Amino acid sequence: MDKSSMIIIDPGHGGLDNGASYGYTDEDDINLAIAYYLEYELKEAGISYCMTREKDEDVSLDQRVTLANVKDAKLFFSIHCDAFHKKTVQGISIHIYPAASIGSLQISGIVHRQLLTYFPLQRNRGVKRSDFKVLCETRMPAVLVECEFLSNPKMRKFLKEPENQRRMARCFKRSIQIYLRNI
Ligand SMILES: [Zn+2]
Repeated sequence: MDKSSMIIIDPGHGGLDNGASYGYTDEDDINLAIAYYLEYELKEAGISYCMTREKDEDVSLDQRVTLANVKDAKLFFSIHCDAFHKKTVQGISIHIYPAASIGSLQISGIVHRQLLTYFPLQRNRGVKRSDFKVLCETRMPAVLVECEFLSNPKMRKFLKEPENQRRMARCFKRSIQIYLRNI
């Protein structure tokens, strides 16, 4: 396998760290469900990938970063869900490091446009600059998507729907394909 063409899929949290938790729904489970669909999509498309976790297990941020750097991955793609104390807040956002590389800017722009196509009815909160460890310490282009707000009951329902999880995965696969074609 050509390791330089590998995509790292990073389902956020896991194990003791559930991430955001609302209405008996844990973020780490939703992140993993979307990642499983993405895994399937990438396999179908013949794109090599590696998951930072395959099940509900503890994987530290350092381990995630180290895996990506050791594999010399082409792209780091992290999947999360958002939360806010005001439960009406909604939307999908894309995060890149404040001093993002050209590659990170490219992938974030592609994901942004694909989200508009795949989810025209969801609020699109756009690309934000965030100082997240996995974005900062990975040595390759890196992006983190917050796939809607678990704290919003309506959006929690959206996130739990397998068809939406699958569509999210398809949107990410398409974004990754476009990105790989353009570099
Ligand atoms: Zn998270």
